[in-house]
Amino acid sequence: MMIVVIDGPAGAGKSSTAQAVARRAGLDYIDSGAMYRGFTVLFNELRHDKEAFFDAIEQERLYFEFDRDVSRVFLDGREITDQLRDPEVNNQVSVVAAMPQVREQITRELRKAVGNSDCIAEGRDLGTVVFPNAELKFFLTADLEERARRRHLEMAGKDEPSDSEEFQGVLENLQQRDSIDSSRKEAPLQKAEDAIELDTTSLSFDRQVARIIEAIERVRAYQSGS
Ligand code: C5P
Repeated sequence: MMIVVIDGPAGAGKSSTAQAVARRAGLDYIDSGAMYRGFTVLFNELRHDKEAFFDAIEQERLYFEFDRDVSRVFLDGREITDQLRDPEVNNQVSVVAAMPQVREQITRELRKAVGNSDCIAEGRDLGTVVFPNAELKFFLTADLEERARRRHLEMAGKDEPSDSEEFQGVLENLQQRDSIDSSRKEAPLQKAEDAIELDTTSLSFDRQVARIIEAIERVRAYQSGS
């Protein structure tokens, strides 16, 4: 069994990298951000009523399914995966993720989800808090401007967006989430001491995927004693 984790700031390319690695190296993929986003959809539906929200957490109204390529989220049996990247979710998710009640439940679910299979999971606190004994830990970073540029291109599917108002909005959301995620008391965004840092500002996507796969192959060779 092998657990590979990728942590890092918003928009550093953790999801696309982890998905590509999962596909090529035959691992299960777990997107912990999707879980925090699922809780945020519920928080928004309850109009930010914290008491009702904490009751709902106890009732376990959210359900998560991890397919090889995608992490799906269900609320009261209805799939809400399509809503996870809505602007209302982007704007609230770091607030919800700072609540210890939410973190506790997601940490528990994540540990349950890995089971006995080889998997790659990505988030903010996976190497530090959720899976401190993971076989491989990576910390993906990139300049804020570059992360915003990639995220905006991904959203809009257009070419050079850098002077638009929408681009500014994306950049500010990444910046705001990083600031809340890094300064919260509970499980802040932090590089684990034993994580390998990959600055992807000028590293190609294929190269960063290859770096992780090479490390996985080394662990596999070691595990099988060759
Ligand atoms: O990775 P993604 O951008 O989808 O994460 C959304 C938000 O969920 C983050 O900004 C952070 O507030 C929260 N999160 C977290 N811990 C994780 C994964 C995500 O706090 N392990």
